[in-house]
Amino acid sequence: MNFTEAAAAPDDAAPMHRQSIAAHARALRRRDYSSVELTRHFLARIAAAADLNAFITVTEERALAQAEEADRRLAAGGENSDGDAAAAPLLGIPLAHKDLFCTAGVLTSCGSKILSNFIAPYDATVVDKLNRGGAVTVGKTNLDEFAMGSSNETSCAGAVRNPWDKTRVPGGSSGGSAAAVAARLAPVATGTDTGGSIRQPAALCGLTGIKPSYGRVSRRGMVAFASSLDQAGVLATNAADAAIVLRAMAGFDAADSTSLQCAVPDYPALLASARAESGKPLAGKTIGLPREFFGADVAPDVADCIDAALAQLRALGASTVEVELPNSAAGIPCYYVLAPAEASSNLARFDGVRYGHRAADAADIDDLYARSRGEGFGAEVKRRIMVGTFVLSSGYYDAYYLKAQKLRRLIADDFRRAFEVCDLLAGPTTPATAFALGEKTRDPVAMYLNDIFTNAVNLAGLPALSIPAGFDRAGLPVGLQLIGDYLDEATPLIAAHCYQQATDWHRQTPAEYA
Ligand code: GLN
Repeated sequence: MNFTEAAAAPDDAAPMHRQSIAAHARALRRRDYSSVELTRHFLARIAAAADLNAFITVTEERALAQAEEADRRLAAGGENSDGDAAAAPLLGIPLAHKDLFCTAGVLTSCGSKILSNFIAPYDATVVDKLNRGGAVTVGKTNLDEFAMGSSNETSCAGAVRNPWDKTRVPGGSSGGSAAAVAARLAPVATGTDTGGSIRQPAALCGLTGIKPSYGRVSRRGMVAFASSLDQAGVLATNAADAAIVLRAMAGFDAADSTSLQCAVPDYPALLASARAESGKPLAGKTIGLPREFFGADVAPDVADCIDAALAQLRALGASTVEVELPNSAAGIPCYYVLAPAEASSNLARFDGVRYGHRAADAADIDDLYARSRGEGFGAEVKRRIMVGTFVLSSGYYDAYYLKAQKLRRLIADDFRRAFEVCDLLAGPTTPATAFALGEKTRDPVAMYLNDIFTNAVNLAGLPALSIPAGFDRAGLPVGLQLIGDYLDEATPLIAAHCYQQATDWHRQTPAEYA
């Protein structure tokens, strides 16, 4: 059972909601508590923290039924329903899903009025895999509408609050998942990352968030925003937990033509074997520091935390080298042409006919489309559809969409060259810590600039993590981003795990939720 060895050092004194997944897995097998008790504990915390607005739907009844089933399987020896031992570490463990993953029989709203009555007829592959692994779904988390945003303020279900400071945003678009895990309302949650939506909220909420390589995880049943950039991942409190959940959700899926037909490494086992006795587990690893990620636009407190984290990584044996990503400044404009272009096409299916909200009293079919979409979509989604339709329109296609595609290649080539001299890249996840609710809602460009260090990674299809690396002087968490080469989730995960063995930033909990 590798997952037990890979765990962060167990902190037996910590209360139930602050234990790692591996600690829960051990406790469930020792019968210290049952999955039903564990699930009730988190359901009670969810109810008590309703003011965070982290959940759109709490699936209490289903969760308890899943927990009872998990307890039966645990009593029978911990077997998984299909006998797949690799997924057993999640048996009986509660988790939450971003409300962008289809869940059979349960509302999947995408934070949008247009899907406010949409009950998916099937489970997303990610949900299905985690269910088969015996995980217990406690609910569906809030998000920016269709995952478009960096603050979780565009949801039709209202804004989510940051558990570290409830006057601030949790980041977005997976803000509900991040707030839920940060407040320990669930040990772990799924998220999606198109331009930073796992890493940015992880950074702003003091969590470990991983976006795997494009194609590593199936997108089937994950409502599409920008199909060439979307990727599912995990928000957890530590890298060992993220490794367990990523392993359970990753892998080829014949129902997603972009999912990759290649073996998923045993991440928990790799983490366990990286615990070198020498105290220099990262010896021989070279970390590239992109010059463009260390500029004047990074807040001084963030820069200080990142410098200290890099010193810690060097103390663990890694060496650092400066690298260049000369086209990274084009990342934001490139992303904000391509992502809306793809969104405008993907969101065409929401027409009031097949799914979701349908306007009343339409005069004819065109009026039905126009009114249903006009009433159903929020302002940011409409902005994206208009921008996307514009950049794809004849006469402008070459100037915008085609040019952005060419820039995307240059950005990906920059990363390829950087990885010729290093094993992973490091820098801040975001230029600043969590901002105030409402601070950037009137200025979309200021909002978009939050993704300045994250979205180029999606354009290049690379894996990346954000991990907690300290606090600013206001007590808000700072995130360190670790970027891996294509299909190499393991190297940044190992670096994160080694860093977390040597530091305890990831164990810090907002006082109210300790
Ligand atoms: N903030 C970015 C956007 O608004 C990224 C969102 C995401 O990764 N889903 O598009």
